[in-house]
Amino acid sequence: MKSRIPFDRVNWTSSIFLTVTFFTALIGTPLYLIKFGVDPFQIALFAFYSLATGLSITLGYHRLFAHRAFKAKAPVKLGTLIFGACAFEDSALDWSSDHRTHHKHVDQDDDPYDISKGFFWAHMGWIFFKLYPRPLANVADLKKDGLVMWQHRWHRQLGFLFGILTPTMIGLMVNGGVGALGGFLLAGVTRVVVVQHCTFFINSLCHTMGRRPYDSRTSARDSFLMAIFTFGEGYHNYHHTFQHDYRNGVKKWQWDPTKWTIWTLSKLGLVSDLRRVPDEKILLAEMRETRRQAELRLAEIEAAKAQRADDTCPTWQGALDAVQEMTEKFAKNYAELEEAVSEGVRVSKKNLARWKAEAAEYLEQLAAMDQQLAPAAA
Ligand SMILES: [Zn+2]
Ligand SMILES: [Zn+2]
Repeated sequence: MKSRIPFDRVNWTSSIFLTVTFFTALIGTPLYLIKFGVDPFQIALFAFYSLATGLSITLGYHRLFAHRAFKAKAPVKLGTLIFGACAFEDSALDWSSDHRTHHKHVDQDDDPYDISKGFFWAHMGWIFFKLYPRPLANVADLKKDGLVMWQHRWHRQLGFLFGILTPTMIGLMVNGGVGALGGFLLAGVTRVVVVQHCTFFINSLCHTMGRRPYDSRTSARDSFLMAIFTFGEGYHNYHHTFQHDYRNGVKKWQWDPTKWTIWTLSKLGLVSDLRRVPDEKILLAEMRETRRQAELRLAEIEAAKAQRADDTCPTWQGALDAVQEMTEKFAKNYAELEEAVSEGVRVSKKNLARWKAEAAEYLEQLAAMDQQLAPAAA
């Protein structure tokens, strides 16, 4: 029988690295902790490396290089390129190329981490089979960046030097052989595995779990829980709708440490030209999604109505008239906002808040109406 696994396409380097680091972290780290105990210094080193390499992926690889959501001065670029290499997720150039393809072909066959091929495929399965060299036609802009190309050439060496050897040496200096082993296992290998899987969650869980307030036609979802594990990348439905915005958690209260770091760096003059989608455009996307959901509800109400065509019950008629009225009011608001967006007119915060509240109310009332009318049709 022919094997279903395409062995001819296996990327052995990535496959062996992912497997060895995973089992080293899974077995080696608990054994170390049992034998030598929890050392606060080792925990601090692990936390520093997790933060530095995690943010280098979200702020650097993702929002800066893949999406060009802001401009950065050399120190920010260099820092994120070096610590990004320590995450062992390929060079920024390769990563960005894959990621731009993901956005362009999301949920389709050409999406490298297409969720419709299954959770495990989107999470990490695709890495076992990815082909080299990539065409890299979609990163012509990054190819002109000397620092990006330097990192592309040396990312494995940089990752090993700064991501594995350095924490091992720091551990050695602080606590001899035991410290070196701890630095290697905790801030080195285990941190690589943790940061990698948190990144992988964006491709798997963020396309599976959560809400879709901006666009339900894509599998990408908004999830506060995922934002916690991914430095704010969990608001993935927003991100797929407006990929060039430097914010993923666009609302003020949303957990997005990457956004806060970019904003802070801009105040320090280290980054600039932060790209923000205007509030009007964001609300228009939300209202477009409300309209999609409303159309589904209206179709159900319409079907219930068709089954009771001869019904002249005044309660029924009253309910249908109310639905009609709400739909017309929503359509009016939507048209006004659409016109404002197309003409680039700013809308007052008060009006935006009112339209948003009315859109939410519209959906709620439709759902209640649907429940009220549907049993009668059965
Ligand atoms: Zn995605
Ligand atoms: Zn993205």
